[in-house]
Order: sequence, then C-alpha cells, then structure tokens
Amino acid sequence: MDVDQEHRLRSVFWADARSREAYKEFGDAVTFDTTYLVNKHGMPFAPFVGVNHHGQSVLFGCGLLSQEDTDSFVWLFEAWLSCMSGCSPNAIITDQCRAMQNAISIVFPKAQHRWCLWHILKKIPEKLKVCEAYDSIKSGIFNAVYDSLNQEEFEANWGHVIDTYELGGNEWLNGLYEERHRWVPAFVKDTFWAGMSTTQRSESINHFFDGYVHSNTTLKQFVEQYENAMGKRVQQEEDEDVHCFNAQIKTVSPYGFEDQFQQAYTIAKFKDFRDEVAGKISCQIERVMVVDDMEEFEIEEDIKIGEAGFLKTSTFHVRFNKQSKDASCTCRLFEFKGIVCKHMFVVWSKKKLTQVSEKYILRRWRKDVRRNHTFVKVSYANWERKPEWHRFNKMLVLFHRVADKAFDSDGKSERVMAKLLEAEVENEVCDDDTNRPMFPEVQKDSISLTAGRHRRWDGKRKAATWDNGDGCVGSALVSWGRASWWCESLAATMARW
Ligand SMILES: [Zn+2]
Repeated sequence: MDVDQEHRLRSVFWADARSREAYKEFGDAVTFDTTYLVNKHGMPFAPFVGVNHHGQSVLFGCGLLSQEDTDSFVWLFEAWLSCMSGCSPNAIITDQCRAMQNAISIVFPKAQHRWCLWHILKKIPEKLKVCEAYDSIKSGIFNAVYDSLNQEEFEANWGHVIDTYELGGNEWLNGLYEERHRWVPAFVKDTFWAGMSTTQRSESINHFFDGYVHSNTTLKQFVEQYENAMGKRVQQEEDEDVHCFNAQIKTVSPYGFEDQFQQAYTIAKFKDFRDEVAGKISCQIERVMVVDDMEEFEIEEDIKIGEAGFLKTSTFHVRFNKQSKDASCTCRLFEFKGIVCKHMFVVWSKKKLTQVSEKYILRRWRKDVRRNHTFVKVSYANWERKPEWHRFNKMLVLFHRVADKAFDSDGKSERVMAKLLEAEVENEVCDDDTNRPMFPEVQKDSISLTAGRHRRWDGKRKAATWDNGDGCVGSALVSWGRASWWCESLAATMARW
C-alpha cells in the first residue's frame, strides 16, 4: 500500500502466491489496463493479465490507483515487479496513455510496449464521425490496420486513406501514424504476444471480474470478491486441463507432424494450429528457389478482405533448411503467436515430414507440463480435493518420520540427506523444456535400453515402465505421472535403504 504524507491511502497493489507462480509460467506477455473500472473513490482498478496454456485470461496481480500520473504508475509497476521476483515481462500491452508509457520506460526499459488496438479503434467514431465520408474512411483505416501484411503495405494503405479523404491535417490520425510502431500489427509482429489479439484480450479483462466487482464495491468487498472471481478462473483452468486429457480433437491431414501437435497441445491451441492446417487449401506454391542448403518457397495465398469479402492474393516466403528441416515464414505468425503458420505447413507437407523439431511445439501451449502454480495452496483453489495434495502429504509424512529418526546424529542425518538427494536426482524424470524423460533408458521412442533395465517405452502415450533389477519398479506417464513415479521410486529407494 502506498500512503500520502497524511497517511491517506494513495494506491494499493496485491498479488497472491498462485498468481506469482503463474507469472513464472505465462509472464512472457502481459496486458495492463486501467479503463475497465473506476471505484466510487475515483480509483481506477488496474489488473495485470496474461494468457495461460488454454488461451484463458490469467491474473498476475492488480492495483487500485488514486491518480494516473507517472509517479503512481512507477510505484505500481515497481511493486508488481518486486513481487514477480524482479522478472520483467518481455512484452506489455496497455491503453494509450503518456504517463503509463513513461512509467514503462522507467520500470520495464527492455519490454516491448504496445498499445491496445481495441482502445485505439474504439475512438474512431468519436474522432472522425464528423467527416462526410465517415464509413469509407473507417473501412479504409480498418483495411490498412488489419489487412496490411507488412510495413510497406501499411504505409501504402494508410497513405491512400489520408490522401483520398484529405485527412493530412487531422491531428489524431497524424499522432497515431507517428507512433505506428506501437500499435499497428504489421509493426509489432516480431515480438511474441502469446496470441493476445488485443481486442479479445481487452474484452476478457473486462469479463475477468464481471459480476464480482462494480464501481460501488468497497475495498473490503473487493478482496472477498477477488477470491470468488479467482476461484472461478481456477476452476475453469482445471476443467480445461481435465478435458484436454480426456478428449482429443481430430487431425485433418495425413501428415505425422500434425499428430505431434495434437498429442502435445491443449485443445484450444491445437485448434489454432488446425485452423492453419485448414488454411492450406487457399495456398499454393508458386516457385522454389534453391541456395545451398536452403530452399525458398514462394507461396501465394488467397485472402478474403473486409466485410465485402473480395479476394486478394498475397505472397509469402518460407525458407526451409534441407538438413535441419527447420522453416521460417515472412508472415511471422509463429514469432508473434507461437503457432506454426499455414505456409510452413504447406512446405512441411510438401516435404512429407513425419516429425518436426520440438522447437516448434512451445512448452507454453503444452498440456503435458507440470506447472507449479497449480500446486500453490490458495484459499480459493480447493487444493485439498486434488489427488496431488494427497500424494504430496503422503510424502511429507514419510519425510517427517525419517527426519525424526535421524536428526539426533550427524552420521544418520547425512545418510538420509544423501539418499534423498539421490532420490531427487533419480526422480527428475522429465526434461522441463521438451518434457521428454531424461533417463538414458527412456530417452528414445524405442526400446534402446540400458542393459535390460528398461522394459517398455510407449511413444504414443508417452509412458514408460521399467525395472532396474534391484527392486525399483517405476512407471511414468510423462504428462501427469511424474508425481506417482516419484512416490513409487521413493518408496523403493527407502525400502532398499
Ligand atoms: Zn506464414
């Protein structure tokens, strides 16, 4: 809390332990918005929101500000940053506000800062309604903003609107053009935004606390309602986690690498990928140029433009490395959204790849990753109901019992520590980045085992079972099974000892 010289409350900030953990996982791109709600004391409510592996909004903390000046924003951003272990976001989306912009350059100097497109375009009626050709101007601006595939196209389309409707003297438009690198999609697509199409995200922020807080909510009520709103979000995330393990949506192509994405990604993100796969139908390879190890594919795509739906043909270039099979595309979808684009898909399918490099399958969208924020005990998350909680407690009881027997002697406690450290190393089953088992005997999707230790590795289910011959029988479902393997192996280790 920030108070003034007379000890009156100036600003408030809070974040809970779960939000802090979630930030470690999903804090690469963050939106910050003060336009959603102002309370009865005139204090805008300011949430930091990101997006989780299902594309759902996730809260990283929030504040109430008494003023919207640079100092207040600096205070809030610094409070938030120290709460998030000093780890600045790579990318931040805000509404268009000079004081906020100053504060961002002070507190997050390295972050890519972008203005929320939705907030800008929302102002069009207010700023341009007086113009005679308002409808045509509006659709011209929308076309320039949404349909320009690169910066040159934007310049041409924007220039066309300005010249045609003689808008060269419009200060609002001139100001926006000067700052185009902060908001026009064609200018910001080299940065990863986690698929935050600003429009949708702003709406999601607005819905985050809908039904829970309103302008007459007191601070005390707010804290209570915060728990309710967060509880609902946690439930939605958990439901979706369960859904992703119990259901699967179909692939639409015969190519093996689509299965890779289907098995790794959450349903929401696999759908995004599948939309790209379906988009292959509007693409065709026009030309291929070969330079050493690289092939450059020129791909033409038919794209529907505007509400009238007329077609334009755009050209994209995909560079493909014949050795590594890596690809990159000038549309930059993978760079800003983390989803492989239809053009890369066209090339990989032309090459009939059965697998693509794991680097195209982002950990961020995977369903089979153990994420720490889901284990944080918070009052609103009903943690006690989870099987993980019971497993965790069972282990704690055992640890406690062993420590109780060994704490009174250096020799005994060192022996316990050594065994526990051994267990810790043994139980690091999964590599955090690829989620592949780190054990030599289960590193490959095959039965390339070490001296008969490894029993079976089921690549499709990503499950392994093994018997190392001295009583340590283990099994791991690489998605969720880490904890259960942990238990089995620890018990076996303890039994041997
Ligand atoms: Zn592309």
